[in-house]
Amino acid sequence: MRIIAIAGAAFCTLLWGNPQCYVEGYPGLVASADESALTLTDSTRFPYKNTLPKNSWDETIDHADLATQLSQRYDAGGSVTPPPYLHSPGRLRYQPFFQALYGKNKKEIEKNIVTIEWPTLKGSVKLPVTKIAGVDKKLYAIGQEISKLPKKERIWAEGATTYAYRVIKDTDRLSMHSFGIAIDLAPATTQYWKDEASAETAKIGYKNTMPLSIVRIFEKHGFVWGGRWYHYDTMHFEYRPELLAPSCVVQAR
Ligand SMILES: [Zn+2]
Repeated sequence: MRIIAIAGAAFCTLLWGNPQCYVEGYPGLVASADESALTLTDSTRFPYKNTLPKNSWDETIDHADLATQLSQRYDAGGSVTPPPYLHSPGRLRYQPFFQALYGKNKKEIEKNIVTIEWPTLKGSVKLPVTKIAGVDKKLYAIGQEISKLPKKERIWAEGATTYAYRVIKDTDRLSMHSFGIAIDLAPATTQYWKDEASAETAKIGYKNTMPLSIVRIFEKHGFVWGGRWYHYDTMHFEYRPELLAPSCVVQAR
């Protein structure tokens, strides 16, 4: 029986992160994907894996490929618990994939940026986001759902900021805000790992004040939350449907 149980666990691990998560996560944008390559509907083709060294966390995050991007399971719908050491599902990103989807540079990205109404306690603000993959419609729907929450929870959706073409602090990697697919909430009262430690591999204590009610609304619409990262960024949400594709999540259980 023990052998069967171990084999079952290994099987589940292999199923998590299968290339079909991209096809399911980005309908109309990703045409096909397997262990060798991913092809977009515009025929752009990427190797699924590269051969760059990934022997350390720093090498892994610098050399991430499409397989690496799915290598850490995102616990959608989970409660707020400190993630295991270096478990930051969503932070491992293959940048050329996002550039192919949302725009290869600032000028191309901004051709796809539109504004949406985001409800606030006093009315609403306009936020710039991409229209690719229906991100604008999804973020609008998220705002509408959050506006129905009690005030003590809604207050954590104040001070929202979205599109900004910039690199991630202390790196040369583009922030997901650069593509118009990320939003920060309550920037003055949320928590960021770099305020406690600067090295990626440092031992960091977990902190969070973002209510789970808001997190779950985002996850329902394909956004992952930075509060489920060891390198926590609790104000931050980004559109990453490959980590939330229903069949991938179900298969992983
Ligand atoms: Zn952010």
